[in-house]
Amino acid sequence: MSRRSGKYRRMLSRFFKERQIYHRSDGVVHFISMSTKTQVALAFVVGAALMWIAYASVNVVFKEQIIVAKERDFRVMETTLSKRLVDAQKAYDDVNVLNHIIEQEFDSTMDDISARHQMLRNMVERKATIDQDIDTLANGLAAAGGPNGQQPTNGNRVMIDITPGEPTPRQSRISILRKEAAAEVLKRKSSSNFSGDGPAADAIQTMEIAAAELFLEQTLLIASIEEKATQQIEALEMVLESTGVTSESLVTPAKISNIALAQGGPFIDLANIDGSSARFFKHANRALEAVDELAAIQAAVDYVPLSSPLTVSRRFTSGFGIRRDPINGRHSSHHGIDFAAAWASPVTATAAGLVKFAGTRSGFGRVVEIDHGNGFITRYAHMNRISVKAGQKVNLHDKVGELGSSGRSTGPHVHYEIHFKGRPVNPRRFIEAGRYVFES
Ligand SMILES: [Zn+2]
Repeated sequence: MSRRSGKYRRMLSRFFKERQIYHRSDGVVHFISMSTKTQVALAFVVGAALMWIAYASVNVVFKEQIIVAKERDFRVMETTLSKRLVDAQKAYDDVNVLNHIIEQEFDSTMDDISARHQMLRNMVERKATIDQDIDTLANGLAAAGGPNGQQPTNGNRVMIDITPGEPTPRQSRISILRKEAAAEVLKRKSSSNFSGDGPAADAIQTMEIAAAELFLEQTLLIASIEEKATQQIEALEMVLESTGVTSESLVTPAKISNIALAQGGPFIDLANIDGSSARFFKHANRALEAVDELAAIQAAVDYVPLSSPLTVSRRFTSGFGIRRDPINGRHSSHHGIDFAAAWASPVTATAAGLVKFAGTRSGFGRVVEIDHGNGFITRYAHMNRISVKAGQKVNLHDKVGELGSSGRSTGPHVHYEIHFKGRPVNPRRFIEAGRYVFES
């Protein structure tokens, strides 16, 4: 036994000395002896009971406070949770808003691009049709050649491609347009419409830059269409002017607006689109106007007699104006020009039109007259045979008859006249003008 446990034992024996409890009942005294061991056990039991009572009392007394405290803890937890939930919802909403912004940005950019694309496609298609028509005319005129059948000097048929020395107001506008487009791209590259950082802003900026580059290409395409159309208009105007007939007297404003109405591109309401798009469509509308004007002047030129009535080998024998009459020798006015060629050579229409007269006229012999519209009438006289009937539609170089010597004629030739608004004009100027269409 250690010294320490001996000390406890001694302490316990001092506290819980062996005690006797006396108890008297009916005059008899009893006693209960309580050993140290019993007292310790009893003290332990009593102590435990007291502790339990204390604990239970505290629990009963502070129950409310404990519940309140627990509830408070719970509320704090709940608040924290719901705050987190709100934050998460907000983040989710932000992402949604961002997505929506990106979607809207994307949609409006796509709408913008496809509207421009649609307009450009229409314009390019129309321009291609007009070019093909001009090409057909130029090819036809080249096949007939000049007044004496001259072919294009360089052997290659060259489309009208006259570059004026001085830039026209239209062309300086085109260089302005180019500068504007380049500036627009720079502007879009440096500043995005969408302000913000992160992948969304980056995505939008990348898209905007791509759109801006596409915008530049579309604008340059517009510019080149307007430029080319303008050059062609100028060239065709030159062709018409060299005939002595002004284009204004042929291509009436009413006609241009009719064609514009019938074939013009989509009408764009400029009020509903932003600055750069509005500028684009303003330029595009101007290019469309140029294409419309080209279409109108091309359509008019198609019906101007710019070719020779003979496409075969021929000789120019007599000019327009005052000359000595080949039969009576007197000075008189010659209202046409004469070509000599082999007997029965095909005489052909010098432009598309409607046969107005096919028969015999005094002095002219067997004659065909074609109405080309716009005030132009052509006459082919002294023919051996007539191949068309009045009211028949003819195209450029359709055969109208065979060369002969009918009427007041000294030998096989074709007498050819052009009347513009009732007055005879010099056909040679028209045939020379036709060469501008196929020669540069
Ligand atoms: Zn004649």
